[in-house]
Amino acid sequence: MTQRLRTSSILVGLLFWLVFLSLSAGSPIFTHRFTVVVDPGHGGKDPGAIGVDGICEKWINLTIAQMVYLKSLDHPALRVILARRNDEYIYPTDRIKEANRIGADLYVSVHANAYSNASVSGVETLVHETQGRGSQSYRLAEILQQHLVSQTGARDRGVKWAPLFIRQAQMPAALVEVGFITHRFEAKLLQSLSYQSKIADAILDAILEFLYKP
Ligand SMILES: [Zn+2]
Repeated sequence: MTQRLRTSSILVGLLFWLVFLSLSAGSPIFTHRFTVVVDPGHGGKDPGAIGVDGICEKWINLTIAQMVYLKSLDHPALRVILARRNDEYIYPTDRIKEANRIGADLYVSVHANAYSNASVSGVETLVHETQGRGSQSYRLAEILQQHLVSQTGARDRGVKWAPLFIRQAQMPAALVEVGFITHRFEAKLLQSLSYQSKIADAILDAILEFLYKP
């Protein structure tokens, strides 16, 4: 992990834990309308993709997800739960089982992409291969993709189908690939707090649009 990524991840992580623990301890009574699981992909023994200068995908995913959590506190009707809060490994299928168990309304998995060709860049959103254009998961993916592209200005690689672990989700579910850590310039952006914040804004805006504009 580069110095810049390490510093920004630590800062956001500290803020996340401060807020998370103070909210847990204070136990204010919230009346949540929607529960959304945001899943920072990989973690622990699974670093995810490795990019330029050895940056690990798992850290970028975690920082962005923590930012989504922090920003979601402005929306009391929304309860964002992170599928992992630490650098820990949790089986992807266990993350889905937990989301099903708590009856989450939405599931958004956050990832960063990698490719052998270092000139490839851009944002894409994936749904499980059986989710057709008329499905709620596809609609969620389209909204996520629109917001990510307009917030970041990154290349629009569209919504794609793939065999994914989110197939077992009992709620609309999509997986965002927020950029390529194998692309020198995009990797740099993905390590900056301001760009990570734009991505978190896009994810949160998409969640709100999906939930409130059916
Ligand atoms: Zn990944």
